[in-house]
Amino acid sequence: MRIIMLGAPGSGKGTQAQKLQTECELVQISTGDLLRSAVAAGTELGRKAKAIMDAGDLVSNEIVLGMIEARIAQPDAGRGFVLDGFPRNIAQAEGLQSLLARNRINLDAAVLMDVPFDILLRRLTGRRTCSTTGQVLNIYFSPQAELDACLAAGGELRQRADDNEETIRNRLEVYEQQTAPLIEYYDERGLLQTVAADGPMDQVYARLLDVLGLDRPS
Ligand code: AMP
Repeated sequence: MRIIMLGAPGSGKGTQAQKLQTECELVQISTGDLLRSAVAAGTELGRKAKAIMDAGDLVSNEIVLGMIEARIAQPDAGRGFVLDGFPRNIAQAEGLQSLLARNRINLDAAVLMDVPFDILLRRLTGRRTCSTTGQVLNIYFSPQAELDACLAAGGELRQRADDNEETIRNRLEVYEQQTAPLIEYYDERGLLQTVAADGPMDQVYARLLDVLGLDRPS
């Protein structure tokens, strides 16, 4: 299957894409993760992208399309993929369309992860990553025992550089202005599926499998 995950920052696209990767052997392709790796590696691309990401703006279409093209060409992507955080605007969607057409690949679905605004805000402002395990936690939603376990093991609960309030506000605005029009774009092409994406992760995952017509692996 080839799937696009649509949704605002904090809607859980990454978490659910990761579950699809682990349980359904689809390859998760996250432009945000690819960009963060480039920033961490200190490449030229990473240096260019960092300031833009820290402000919550979009990195150029040319850069992300190039990254997607290279990633889709890798052999593992042949078994199917989930695009997470891409496309982010109509130009990227058009670029993706021609890239897929050139490679004779069809999309199966664009899934909108639908979350009420107040929950998005708490997911984003509360998001933390355990510095030792890499586990993504949330100070508002994670069980206290999981937060304590990170600290007890000598870890720190770290906030992503772009999860501060000012950047979050900008990322949500960028989403409304540039990314939300993709909902209609994919609806018009008969690809849109919507998942109510608030509530526990496993329930959301079950709804996701349902709209994709996938069975839960036993
Ligand atoms: P994410 O992890 O998907 O929330 O992405 C983090 C940041 O990376 C975004 O706020 C953008 O600055 C940048 N980014 C990720 N994906 C894209 C994309 N498809 N187009 C442009 N910028 C992106």
